[in-house]
Amino acid sequence: MTREPDMTGAPAVGAAGEPAPARDRPLRLSVFGATGSIGASTLDLVARAPEAFEVDVVAGGSNAEALARAALRVGARHAVIADPGGLAALREALAGTSVTVAAGEEAIVEAAARPADMMVAAIVGAAGLRPTLEAARRGTTIALANKECLVCAGELFLDAARRGGARILPVDSEHSAIFQVFERQNFDQIETLTLTASGGPFRTLSLDEMRDVTPERALRHPNWSMGARISIDSATMMNKGFEIIEARHLFALPLDRIDVLVHPQSIVHGMVHYRDGSVLAQLGPPDMRAPIAHCLAWPRRMETPCERLDLAALATLTFEAPDPVRFPALRLAREALELGTAATAALNAADEVLVAAFLAGRIGFLDIAARAEQTLERLDAAGALAAPGDVADVLETELARARGRPLSGGGGKRRVMS
Ligand code: NAD
Ligand code: MG
Repeated sequence: MTREPDMTGAPAVGAAGEPAPARDRPLRLSVFGATGSIGASTLDLVARAPEAFEVDVVAGGSNAEALARAALRVGARHAVIADPGGLAALREALAGTSVTVAAGEEAIVEAAARPADMMVAAIVGAAGLRPTLEAARRGTTIALANKECLVCAGELFLDAARRGGARILPVDSEHSAIFQVFERQNFDQIETLTLTASGGPFRTLSLDEMRDVTPERALRHPNWSMGARISIDSATMMNKGFEIIEARHLFALPLDRIDVLVHPQSIVHGMVHYRDGSVLAQLGPPDMRAPIAHCLAWPRRMETPCERLDLAALATLTFEAPDPVRFPALRLAREALELGTAATAALNAADEVLVAAFLAGRIGFLDIAARAEQTLERLDAAGALAAPGDVADVLETELARARGRPLSGGGGKRRVMS
């Protein structure tokens, strides 16, 4: 039975009822995941245009020194570290400055409740869900890098954003590309969306060769420099699977109208195919500062230091269909989406655990998708993929998992993960 989530029919991306307000003051920004790859790219753009931004919060996981540096670099008012063990070091690193500090999961959520024009949601994993949800409920525009919000909470997250009047702008390069050529007024004229994929470091490897690849090799992405989790997810193409789920939620088109095309050069990031046969695509260098800048300046544009495309030098752009046998994660993500949000949340949780196990050398590369599939099958057979009742339900599941407690259990809270 298909339990693909109900959609309201309107694309969530960009919408917030009103046009973006004209501002004659700097954009008040919070950067969650400020010490990561997306965080660093964001701060780089902010530091280049200090007159345009006023950073209120920087938040990070456990690296106090890096967080303190981030705060000082952009003149943030408040720095929050998720790991309480990092508070002393953070305090020490910021002693004598006016930056206030806090620590712990609750402090992260409290920081997300502070008034801001925009939150850059760039915490990795399900840990990003609570603070991003808090900002969405308060109507803060969300520059969404943390795709896990949509993978784990889907409609519930969008619903919170809708009720809060929060606008969602995609940071993910493929979704940013589609958003940039997405004619909202011609929504009924759109036939399909294409997400491009680099194919990752193992695009040309045989199944046999993929069996023995090391974490070091899997972490070496040919085009993009990213955090560890998303780098491995790119190598398995689970990341592209999550991006299908993300696109389904952001653009409100059914699953069979969202395609993936392997494009090893990572120049064309996404396309929208219209009923008249026209295909609109967005091109750009493989540099996340471009889609981040699109969010920071939206609905206008801003200067970036990104390398300019030299298409004559590039000469050839190639495209190929993804191989479903070597990259089963794409099918898995579609199947999970058909089962519903509990299944996509379970897929994310399984993948998070399995990627960590692969990085620690405990399982092989092909085991990531294979074991994620077994987990979904087991949970589905046990009837444990019932739709989550509300966001609290999703959070309870996620928090329990994050604290290492396997969940079983009754009622609406049956779900998740070994
Ligand atoms: P990263 O690992 O480089 O950075 C993650 C950030 O999250 C760090 O600042 C870390 O300190 C922080 N963090 C980790 N656990 C935390 C916790 N419990 N509480 C608070 N902060 C915590 O990851 P990244 O590559 O920057 O990716 C961030 C998000 O953006 C992910 O959801 C990823 O899927 C998405 N994304 C990344 C890229 C990319 O190119 N890097 C592209 C598209 C989407
Ligand atoms: Mg992407």
